[in-house]
Parts: sequence; structure tokens; C-alpha cells
Amino acid sequence: MKPSTNVTLFPKRKPPAKTPPERDASHLCSWTSGSQQCRYPATLSSTTLGDGPWFCTFHFECASPSYGAEVVKASQDYGQEDLVASVRRRTLEQANAEAAAYCQAQGLHTTDQMRVHIAKAMPKVGSGGGSLDWARKIMARIQAGESLPMISEQKARQALGLPTIAEAERDKRTERDALEAQFPAMQALR
Ligand SMILES: [Zn+2]
Repeated sequence: MKPSTNVTLFPKRKPPAKTPPERDASHLCSWTSGSQQCRYPATLSSTTLGDGPWFCTFHFECASPSYGAEVVKASQDYGQEDLVASVRRRTLEQANAEAAAYCQAQGLHTTDQMRVHIAKAMPKVGSGGGSLDWARKIMARIQAGESLPMISEQKARQALGLPTIAEAERDKRTERDALEAQFPAMQALR
């Protein structure tokens, strides 16, 4: 028998409400016991359209009024402080101070100590003053055959008052030409 092509397998769903009602602005669990509302955050709802009601994990599908009442009682101390306000109060300075205190307690270097250390250990690149060891080191590495970014060589040459890369290339060519002029046999190898 040929199956009917006219069977509706799934009933048509109602279109979702255009704007689902907003969750309680406090985001608190909707469970109430007497005059008290649960203060735990509302995270669960059995509806799929976001229109609630929303409950905390304890009150979601809770079937026992006495258990529910105990949870409400226990929740009253929870989240008294406005979370957003507390985050805003926690400034960067506070966070840094906490981090420094933690590092000190753990015997670690604090960020400020590291900054002082780096300022001492690292030359002031590009500032014109200070030690030029960094530039000499770069030139030594290049002379040892290491391949460094051209910008490093340029900066190092500039800092040390050496000829530019182009000038150096020209000098090298001049040097080679002079050598070849002295040893005509080498010219034959070209
Ligand atoms: Zn609750």
C-alpha cells in the first residue's frame, strides 16, 4: 500500500512570542515562601521561550514545600551586595595591589619588582642615551653569521654610527674589486 503523503507528522508549532518577557531584572529565583522570595540566582526554567518563571537549581522542579522553604531561608544571606557595583569598585589599582600581596605571600617577584629589574637589565633602545651594548651585540651576531631582521641591523648601525647597510654593501664591493684587481686570477672565476 502506498503511504499517504498527506500525513502531518508534527503539529505546527505556535510561532514564538516576538519579544519574550524579560526575566525578573533582579535575576532572582521566583520561588516564594511566605513573604520571602528566594535570593539565589534564577538559572533554570522549564519553558523554552524565556518567559519563565525562572528558578534556582534548588527550586527548579522542587516538589517539596518544606524543602523549598528551607532553601528560601538559607538563601537570605546570599548576594546581598550588588554584584555589578562591587565589580565596578574593584579598580585596577586594587587588583594590582591584591596581585602584589599574593606574589609577596608566595615569595614571587611582584610586577613592580620585575619592572625595576627589566629597566636595569635592558638598555634604553632608541633613546639615544644609555649603553650601546645591545647594538654591539647585534653587530657581533651578524658578523658571526647569524641572520637577523634587517631592521635590527639598521638600528644597531645607526646607534653605533656605522655606515648604513647599503653603504656597507658598496664598501664590500669596492673591497672585492680592489682585491680582484690585485689578483687577476680571481676575475676569471666570476
Ligand atoms: Zn530558589
